[in-house]
Amino acid sequence: MEHQSLNAPTIRRGILFVVSAPSGAGKTTLCRGMFDKFPELRQSVSFTTRPLRSGEQDGVDYHFIDQTRFDMMVAAGEFVEWAQVHGNCYGTALATLQEAAAGGADLLLEIDCQGARQIRDSIEEAVFIFVLPPDFAELERRLRGRDTDSDEIIARRMSNARDEISQAHWYDYLVLNDNLAQAGRRFSAIIEAERCRTRLLIDFLSQQFVTN
Ligand code: 5GP
Repeated sequence: MEHQSLNAPTIRRGILFVVSAPSGAGKTTLCRGMFDKFPELRQSVSFTTRPLRSGEQDGVDYHFIDQTRFDMMVAAGEFVEWAQVHGNCYGTALATLQEAAAGGADLLLEIDCQGARQIRDSIEEAVFIFVLPPDFAELERRLRGRDTDSDEIIARRMSNARDEISQAHWYDYLVLNDNLAQAGRRFSAIIEAERCRTRLLIDFLSQQFVTN
C-alpha cells in the first residue's frame, strides 16, 4: 500500500511561516535554500513600490507597482499587512494567503517586523522566524559587500537593523546565520518540526489509527 505524504493538503492544513531579518542577515539566500529543499513550500510574492534591482524579476521577487496603485490596494483593503520600509511601501495581499490556504499549501512570507506584528495580531497559528547575523560588524560588512546600495542607504539599513533586532524577542524561533549551511539546517529543522505538530495531524491520527 502506498503511504500518503504528510504534506498532502488532504492530510493537514497549510502552515504560514513568517520570516524577518535585518537586510544583510542572509534571509533571502536562506529562504531560497528552503524553496530548493522543500519544493512544495510556496513563496509569497509581495507588492512593493521599490524600484526593481538588477537580477530581480517582476512577479517573481515582487510585484513591482507604483505608489498610486499601492494606495488604491490599501484603500480597497487588499493587504493583510503592509508597511513602509527604507522609504518604500511593501505589502502582502490577502488573496495570496487565501489561495495558499485553499490549496492546503505551506507558505513562506519574508516580511519586516512591522508587517510580522500585524500578521501575529490576526493569524494566531502562524510560525514566526527571525534570522540573526552573527553581529553588527559582520552585518555591515555583508551590506557593503553587496555593492548595490549607497553609503547613505547602508547607514539607514544599519540603523533599521538595530530597531528590527530589538523586536526579535517575540518571534517563535531565532536562526543565527553565522554559517549558511548550519543556518540552513536550523531552518529546515524548524519546518520539519512544525509539520509534525499534533494539532495539525489530529485528523490523520484519528483516521489512520482508529482505536475503538
Ligand atoms: P528589500 O527591498 O531588500 O527586498 O526588502 C526590504 C525589507 O522589506 C525586508 O525587510 C523585507 O523583509 C521587507 N518586505 C518585503 N516584502 C514585504 C511585505 O510584503 N510586507 C512587509 N511588511 N515587509 C516586506
